[in-house]
Amino acid sequence: MKIALVTGGTRGIGKAIALKLKNDGYKVIVTYGSNQAEAGLLKEEHQIECIQCDVSSYEQSQNMAQKIQTDHGNPSVIIHNAGITQDAFFHKMTLDQWNAVISTNLSSCFNTIHPFITNMRDQKHGRIIIISSINALKGQIGQTNYCAAKAGIIGFVKALALENANKNITVNAIAPGYIETEMTQKINPKIIESIKTQIPMGRFGHVDEIAHTVSFLCNEKSDFITGETINVNGGHHLH
Ligand code: NDP
Repeated sequence: MKIALVTGGTRGIGKAIALKLKNDGYKVIVTYGSNQAEAGLLKEEHQIECIQCDVSSYEQSQNMAQKIQTDHGNPSVIIHNAGITQDAFFHKMTLDQWNAVISTNLSSCFNTIHPFITNMRDQKHGRIIIISSINALKGQIGQTNYCAAKAGIIGFVKALALENANKNITVNAIAPGYIETEMTQKINPKIIESIKTQIPMGRFGHVDEIAHTVSFLCNEKSDFITGETINVNGGHHLH
């Protein structure tokens, strides 16, 4: 059975991706940061293995990779979804807020993919998908750290796609618009209403709509799509 790794797969978008890939026939393994309760629930209800691993730590990511490789083999699909926001106007942003968001969203691409890439190249087949954001493309007040990290992902997938195209490994990003999860529940309700007026479809997206896009990219018939960033945002970017 093919193995799929989903980082940050115990809640929100990552959980929907994990369940979709399981339904597609993959042996799914997810990682999470600190929320043991959600991990326990996923394991109990869906028999999905959950490994605690702070993706901003190279050492923890290496240990996680070693465990998966020893117990199951190398994944043929890696979905790097874990991410955080720590919003503040740039003039008020602390170095800790900057570093936390860059390391969790961007440096984590190195940490979580690097330990697997050599084996994936040897297997001559693979799918790597990283979750970016609409805000990488359009900017957002209070998110210089997040926009920089998520835009970095778009360059990262292009370079990694070029390096691995001849090994039959596709590397793509998905840039979701606003999706209903705990991350967006943190936004002030008044701002949510104002954001919805900018979305032609008039609503936030559902986690399943991102999971569906992941499933589409993982399908063998999507072999020729690489280096792309797919927007899934209800037309939001058209404004
Ligand atoms: P959630 O906050 O709902 O879930 C985040 C997941 O990432 C959790 O499983 C969490 O684990 C994990 N995580 C957070 N920090 C770390 C860490 N340091 N190491 C390992 N795992 C970590 O987020 P969403 O589902 O909303 O977002 C998922 C991805 O989609 C993110 O990359 C986000 O930036 C991106 N995105 C989201 C949008 C939205 O509107 N929701 C829009 C555009 C992009 P734990 O439960 O242990 O904390």
